[in-house]
Amino acid sequence: KEFRNNVKPNWCPGCGDFSVQAAIQRAAANIGLEPEQLAVISGIGCSGRISGYINAYGLHGIHGRALPIAQGVKLANRELTVIASGGDGDGFAIGMGHTVHAIRRNLDITYIVMDNQIYGLTKGQTSPRSAEGFKTKSTPEGSIETTLSPLEIALSAGATFVAQSFSSDLKQLTSLIEQGLAHKGFSLINVFSPCVTFNKINTYDWFKENIVNLDQFPDYDPSNRIAAMNKIMETHGMLTGLIYQNKERKSYEDMAVGFGTEALAKQDLTLAREDFDKLLAEFK
Ligand code: SF4
Repeated sequence: KEFRNNVKPNWCPGCGDFSVQAAIQRAAANIGLEPEQLAVISGIGCSGRISGYINAYGLHGIHGRALPIAQGVKLANRELTVIASGGDGDGFAIGMGHTVHAIRRNLDITYIVMDNQIYGLTKGQTSPRSAEGFKTKSTPEGSIETTLSPLEIALSAGATFVAQSFSSDLKQLTSLIEQGLAHKGFSLINVFSPCVTFNKINTYDWFKENIVNLDQFPDYDPSNRIAAMNKIMETHGMLTGLIYQNKERKSYEDMAVGFGTEALAKQDLTLAREDFDKLLAEFK
């Protein structure tokens, strides 16, 4: 309850992003966080509005740059639990460079991507996650590009936590966000989050028919990276659940020396006048 605020989301009725918002709020409450312990940093797109709809620290950033901002927040105050969020266009097109390097850097951040396989805010253009042959205003004859596979890319980039869910499965999504928040390192959670207004192909019914839930494979071992890659490819990237987790690798901030462990916000950073003059002299 405490992660709700009074702002009414202006998403279209039925948009998948409502469930993602609810899942974040539930997960944060379930793991015992207080609003002042959480920061939600978002990019641009319909999904980017989410940071304004959660009662926590929030910043609606710029297109494709949620992750650089989120990493700065985490390095400045590692006591905060940091969630970065955005859409597939935001994170896998303009922001893809940041996504790959944030994954391999492995700061303790949870990145939640609302993957609707289209650009919704700009009224329906083909995104990197749109299927080959997908027809929109930007590809009226059908997209001739292949679909990008964020799960394969994440594993190749050295991800320590990769999960995927569906906004209609609130129980699974909430549980995966809880696991992502508890993971000590970078966690990527890709969420199939239908755009009911502009994507008439990848609908709720379409996802229900095509999703492969990892619960079907009781022997699946999420610590096996090769098995994870194989399963992603076998299911054409449609599997949901905890796909891969490496609990051994330390997070960036735990390995980086020289930052100190105390939040910068709590450190005394004031310089004495003579220290300041000395510092300036070094640059003359
Ligand atoms: Fe959601 Fe699509 Fe509406 Fe944007 S345009 S709020 S993604 S349904």
